[in-house]
Amino acid sequence: MIVLDLEWNRGYDKKPLNEILQIGAVRIERLGGPVVDVFNACIRPTVHKKFDLGAKKLPEGKEFRSSHVRFPGAAEAFRTWCAGETAFAGWGVGDVEVLNENCKYWGLAPFPAETVYDFQRAFGHAAGADQQIALWRAAEYCGIPDVFDYHSAVNDAMYTALLSAWITPEDLAYRPEPAPPRRRRLALRMSKLPFPKQPRQKVGPLPAPEDVLNAKGGRNPACPLCGQRYSVARWFTPAPEEGAAGQYYSVFTCPEHGRFLCRMALSQGEDGQWSGRWSVPAITPELKLEYAAALEGSVHICRGPGRRRKKSKTGRGKRHEKP
Ligand SMILES: [Zn+2]
Repeated sequence: MIVLDLEWNRGYDKKPLNEILQIGAVRIERLGGPVVDVFNACIRPTVHKKFDLGAKKLPEGKEFRSSHVRFPGAAEAFRTWCAGETAFAGWGVGDVEVLNENCKYWGLAPFPAETVYDFQRAFGHAAGADQQIALWRAAEYCGIPDVFDYHSAVNDAMYTALLSAWITPEDLAYRPEPAPPRRRRLALRMSKLPFPKQPRQKVGPLPAPEDVLNAKGGRNPACPLCGQRYSVARWFTPAPEEGAAGQYYSVFTCPEHGRFLCRMALSQGEDGQWSGRWSVPAITPELKLEYAAALEGSVHICRGPGRRRKKSKTGRGKRHEKP
């Protein structure tokens, strides 16, 4: 079995590729078995000009830029090293997908991963955890010394392989029950009145995502029919993208015209500052679905300035960089 870990960069441009910067892998012959071989390749990025925030924080950042290896060469070396193995494992399951996404981009054959084991889910089951456990936390929990930097693909693959000693085949076979839908019908009872297109408004830039979500100017939407202003006190979002970027939703009620949605797109500029663009969009079936998905995700309770800020999260998402 090959335990795989990748580091990648999404960049800021419009090319939709998670460009791989490092392929790290180790080979084990059974759960908890010794590491019998190691693969590591640092790859020179050629698709995106700029590193996103996750990639900027990687410990081997400089080595990627100065590497003479490009993705096609690294992928073929890795394919040779894999020697036809079709069972892969990782901390989460996204890495094989990203590997094959990059192969497709470069016109290379995909890796024939017949089985992809999620050691993170299996470890969570073994530990009785009800949510995803970060790799470093799992290692700490098991008393594995943190002698290597995390977020280096080869080190993370090594930690992941070591943690397999705590996983049984039953843990590996475990599949969580999907969460039951909640409050969906009630939440979707929106005003059916048509209204003119509402202007988009901007908040920020501000230092932190919470600042944008909390900003008074970002949460006083007007009823699109009578113009009366209301305020929203919480934002729902599906599993946030990198950091906290993505779409945030809230509802407000005009006593006369009914319930409307307010939607904010939160994004981070290259200078690290956060901005929001929000509006009151027309209620469409797609928008209702987006809002329903957000209700199943995380909630941010707004706080005014001068009070303690708190962000509570119930949902979790796979991130670019392992948490
Ligand atoms: Zn109204």
